Amino acid sequence: MIDPSKILVTGGKGLVGSCVTGLHKPGSHELNLMDFNAINSYLKDNNIEYVVHCAAMVGGVKENSEKLGEFFYNNMQMNLNVFEACRLNNVKKTVSLLTTCIFPAQANYPLTFDQLHTGEPHESNYGYAYAKRMIEINARAYRDQYGMDIVNIIPCNVYGPRDNFNLQKSHVIPGLIHKAYIAKQNTAPLKVWGDGSPLREFIYSEDLGKIIDWLLQNYSSRKPLIVSSDEEITIREVAENLRDLFSLKELVFEADMPMGQHRKPSDNSALKNLIDFKFTPFNKGLKETVNWFNTNYEILRK
Ligand code: GDP
Repeated sequence: MIDPSKILVTGGKGLVGSCVTGLHKPGSHELNLMDFNAINSYLKDNNIEYVVHCAAMVGGVKENSEKLGEFFYNNMQMNLNVFEACRLNNVKKTVSLLTTCIFPAQANYPLTFDQLHTGEPHESNYGYAYAKRMIEINARAYRDQYGMDIVNIIPCNVYGPRDNFNLQKSHVIPGLIHKAYIAKQNTAPLKVWGDGSPLREFIYSEDLGKIIDWLLQNYSSRKPLIVSSDEEITIREVAENLRDLFSLKELVFEADMPMGQHRKPSDNSALKNLIDFKFTPFNKGLKETVNWFNTNYEILRK
């Protein structure tokens, strides 16, 4: 077992980071990852030996397409700072997160890690996508030149407690949960962006946290590892589940809102060869997320 006092989890209060084991989970006001000296000193002062890098500037399809430059700059800067500080402080292992939405828009399905750099990402998020893709280059180059142990994982769409539930900026699940909550209060229909046909793979944040804990202890590879659940779900199904959970009557589809990629199923066979993991069923994870939302409405990010 790795001593948790040696583990820094960046983004440790967020959706994924809060589910990862580690004693050091500074918020952005305690550790500004845009500031190289801050992260460098933090690693040194706290004798950090392991880093799980979950922090990122993230957003849903609308936010991504409106802030391409900011997503590029902030993520590049943060990632470069974290990796370089890990190098200078002889961090034994770093786990960092990519995501399936940074793959080429024209890829062969299911997505495999070797297609990561083979074409342009979707136009709606290329700022974020290229910055995230550079994590893989950074990790590979530091492994090859300095022998650093950096493991990259590629999760599908993550959902769960402590997400950002902002109506405009969030991803689909937190966005629709918040909208369903408001629709319930106003006895109004639930408004869903697009036509409901896009498909996504969703992983519950606690599942991802457990898998990251396991990988930190047991896994090392130069190849990024896809960490995704087994099923693709349509946005319509997500909305129908929420309609039922909130006892709403009606869904309305807004065709003029951004839909992003149609689908991005991914190949999780390498993960399955490593561990026999039982994913939380989507209905259960969604219900738990809604319960968390209802209980924490006053304090959550929205
Ligand atoms: P993506 O997986 O990177 O495209 O990001 P999102 O989670 O933001 O969107 C996934 C899909 O859900 C897209 O097709 C959206 O059009 C659709 N969607 C439907 N309603 C909403 C909503 O209220 N918020 C968001 N973010 N997406 C929505």
